[in-house]
Amino acid sequence: MYLFQEAPLAELMYLADDLRRKQVPHGKVTWQIDRNVNTTNVCIANCKFCNFYRIPGHSEAYITDIDTYKRKIEETFRWGGDQLLLQGGHHPELGLQFYTDLFRKLKELYPTIKLHALGPPEVAHITKLEKSTHREVLTELKKAGMDSLPGAGAEILIDRVRRLISKGKCGAQEWLDIMHEAHKLDITTSATMMFGHVETIRERFEHLVKLREVQSRKPENAKGFLAFIPWTFQDADTLLARIRGVHNLTTPDEYIRMIAISRIMLPNIKNIQASWLTVGKQTAQVCLHAGANDFGSIMLEENVVSAAGAPHRFTYKSIQQAIKEGGFEPQLRNQQYEWRKLPEMIEEQVIDY
Ligand code: SF4
Repeated sequence: MYLFQEAPLAELMYLADDLRRKQVPHGKVTWQIDRNVNTTNVCIANCKFCNFYRIPGHSEAYITDIDTYKRKIEETFRWGGDQLLLQGGHHPELGLQFYTDLFRKLKELYPTIKLHALGPPEVAHITKLEKSTHREVLTELKKAGMDSLPGAGAEILIDRVRRLISKGKCGAQEWLDIMHEAHKLDITTSATMMFGHVETIRERFEHLVKLREVQSRKPENAKGFLAFIPWTFQDADTLLARIRGVHNLTTPDEYIRMIAISRIMLPNIKNIQASWLTVGKQTAQVCLHAGANDFGSIMLEENVVSAAGAPHRFTYKSIQQAIKEGGFEPQLRNQQYEWRKLPEMIEEQVIDY
């Protein structure tokens, strides 16, 4: 907290940059092409920062059908992508069988597609519906084709905060327990933090300590959290903003400080990702000199954070250009942070939404 509030920004950046060079000596900035596809927008969790969900029975409620997956996966391949980020709401009637059938079907149709799927809150929800255990649910999801588990729904891993903004989601300890169980099953995961709303500065750093502690308990051969991605609350039209008057006041300086301190406080998580989607290109570029080594995905069809006002977009060309302008060589990667070659035939996505 002292460093965050008092240290000169240049000194924090210098130290974090030095640590990034030690952790990731190749010096390139990695990025990815994947597509967000939502399994369903039906949700009973009622998070106060979410504009995406619809209650059961709503006229705009949907469950994505297989023809839509087919079209979206084929477009994803044409746009150079290799992965779906599959997430959705807490549908009260969709249990484990729904997801295992879906994953098996997608893998049968497209054996090379990677599924970065669900998140601890959805695993907790399915576990509750099935009256099962996290371990059993994760084991079945992995067997059905889940390749990795995103760190979604972490927000701030403190129950005081979660009661205020996402009461319907799993609590902080359950989120951490599910990640630990995933690590024991050798499922790779990522960790996130959404900040800039009702949390205190201390709670942000308690969040980092909890992540570091879970990572330190992973089995030696497991990769555990591959990356940490802090991003800022997007407030447009959210209940938090409208009813409670909570707005995201995070400045670029504050975001860069969070990136630098994340690098300093998380020596056991190799990759730190700058969230260009929420803070914009220029701030994200500065983060590359403040401990971040990854620019994340171009997120074909991002529609959850965007629904709350995140206005930024990249194509496969413009993300590489942005990394170069930031002073680094771009390197395409997959979800495991292994390098990929950019496909020779690739269509540039038209950004029209
Ligand atoms: S953030 Fe996720 S869990 Fe929360 S209301 Fe939206 S869809 Fe539901």
